[in-house]
Amino acid sequence: MNTGIPPLDILLNHGREIFTFDFGRYFMAASITFAIVWLLRRTVLKTRKIQGREATFTDMRREFLQSLQSVFVYVIGICFLIWGREVGVFYDIIGESLGWATDLAMLAAIIIAHDAYFYWAHRFMHHPKLFKTFHRAHHRSITPTPWAAYSFAMPEALVMFMFVPIWQFFVPTPGWVMFVWLNFQIIRNAMGHAGFEFFPRWWLSTPLTRWINTTVHHDLHHNGGFNTNYGLYFTFWDKWMGTEHPKYAEKFAEVVGRGRIEKQPETQTVPA
Ligand SMILES: [Zn+2]
Ligand SMILES: [Zn+2]
Repeated sequence: MNTGIPPLDILLNHGREIFTFDFGRYFMAASITFAIVWLLRRTVLKTRKIQGREATFTDMRREFLQSLQSVFVYVIGICFLIWGREVGVFYDIIGESLGWATDLAMLAAIIIAHDAYFYWAHRFMHHPKLFKTFHRAHHRSITPTPWAAYSFAMPEALVMFMFVPIWQFFVPTPGWVMFVWLNFQIIRNAMGHAGFEFFPRWWLSTPLTRWINTTVHHDLHHNGGFNTNYGLYFTFWDKWMGTEHPKYAEKFAEVVGRGRIEKQPETQTVPA
């Protein structure tokens, strides 16, 4: 029986590369989103800042350090995952593409599955018995910034990581699909915590786009809408389960409508 390379050996020999890959993705997504928000706040779009409150340096330092801690949890998790693949518990990453159509269908499937996993795991972590241990650390951000993308207590980081072994237990996935999904999830995560609305004004007015979460959606979860808006990428689960914030659409309209001068109907002046 193949017992594989023990996880500790994987950690000692490859821990640094795994850390660089995971921390690098977080750092790039968070810092680029932060820089984009900083620049846009110096333009006419500055009214898109969702909350009046500003995150402090202490907030951002806490978010960064907690995210760094989560990356350490992921690194250890990945060492177990690699070992699990070698001994045959999980499917190996497939080197080649399975054909464009299959690959894209698989990418869509992993995003939909992760959204469902996130919604339910997140909702469970809001249970009063679990909240303190798992999720309180994340909610210390009332005015989140992109640095909060991985800002979890260790038990929550483990719950977040567990989606990957569960997926790889069931589905052999091409490497590039995993890679695209990993980047997609950290970019969406950084955007959700940006505190600034990026989406266009018409986003919630059309059925073509309104099922995709905006930044206001997750921002409300952090500020005032604690028991609503649990979803990550899509609004489906919050709609189906009746957990969408009742004023989500109103708040979105308010944020994207700020600073816009309504066109007044022209009044005709009748000469005396
Ligand atoms: Zn929450
Ligand atoms: Zn959050």
